[in-house]
Amino acid sequence: MADKNIDSVLLSVGHDLPYLTGYTAMPLERLTMLAVHSTGVPLLFVPRLEAPRVEEMPGLFELVPWDETVEPLDLVAQDCSGSSTIAVGDQTWARFIVGLTHRLPGVRWERAVEVVGDLRMRKSEIEIAALRAAARAVDEIAGELQSGAIPLIGRTEAEVSADLSQRILDRGHQKVNFAIVAAGENAASPHHHPGDRVIQPGEVVLCDFGGTMNGYCSDITRCVVTGDIPSDVAAAYGVLMEAQAAGVAAGINGVPCEEVDAVTRQIIADAGYGEYFVHRTGHGIGMEEHEDPYMVSGDRRVVETGFAYSVEPGIYIPGKWGLRLEDIVVATDGGPVSLNEADHNLHAV
Ligand code: ZN
Ligand code: ZN
Ligand code: ZN
Repeated sequence: MADKNIDSVLLSVGHDLPYLTGYTAMPLERLTMLAVHSTGVPLLFVPRLEAPRVEEMPGLFELVPWDETVEPLDLVAQDCSGSSTIAVGDQTWARFIVGLTHRLPGVRWERAVEVVGDLRMRKSEIEIAALRAAARAVDEIAGELQSGAIPLIGRTEAEVSADLSQRILDRGHQKVNFAIVAAGENAASPHHHPGDRVIQPGEVVLCDFGGTMNGYCSDITRCVVTGDIPSDVAAAYGVLMEAQAAGVAAGINGVPCEEVDAVTRQIIADAGYGEYFVHRTGHGIGMEEHEDPYMVSGDRRVVETGFAYSVEPGIYIPGKWGLRLEDIVVATDGGPVSLNEADHNLHAV
């Protein structure tokens, strides 16, 4: 905070608050807000009725339960009265920010990610262990998909998505974040919403799924083909596998994040599929399924030990099929380590 000239950081809903305190704010119209100042003890303002859920941490923050007859923004504004620059969490509701700007005229407002982002990007050993456990769980499901243990032909995308979701929970996640199932031409839409389309023989089925286990996210994509693999699909998949492996290998400490993107993109472009790779190569992952940094042109932050991110290039031929291959990678002193170990080959099921 001192480096960035930030006097106070205000955190409400979103993941910065649980990252720092272990407490997750209810996404309510009632204000929960942690106020961290450059000096003094941080205060956690919570609605009186939520206070019993807070695990108190003396020395880390002081709990300030507020009663229904009090306007909590007045309390926060009073607490910040000496601050000229205040940083707020990205997900803080506009109703609270607007209320604070009215109460604190003349304050310069910044984003809390300026302070908390750097901390959250560098995962500790404990965080990496949590990401690895979540990755192992979805690896097992990917293995079931590739072995044919998850029926596809004759089921709708939505049915298979529900099946994957159940398996995500059965494997120890508390929450499913997404379970994309896209068959045939639907797979050409990277974030396809699984629907009524019945999966047929001889199709690419793209499955991208993940959840949250003990606070940390999993995210994996594997494709399978229901029957014989068409030659055009096999050719593109070979390029994709090569690009994805090169992207993983590129994530050496000191390399800019955008370089990981450039490496996968070059291989795909050289093979003639450049126009069909329509998204960034990857995203950071941790408490949120998408968080800093981003493996995309323009993100010049350099890879450091503890960075965790996806490498997920894709090739999408509109009207025909789509392919994506995704693993979560962690940067270490010894180079990038893939947390996902599910087989990379395109399986015929
Ligand atoms: Zn995505
Ligand atoms: Zn994914
Ligand atoms: Zn992803």
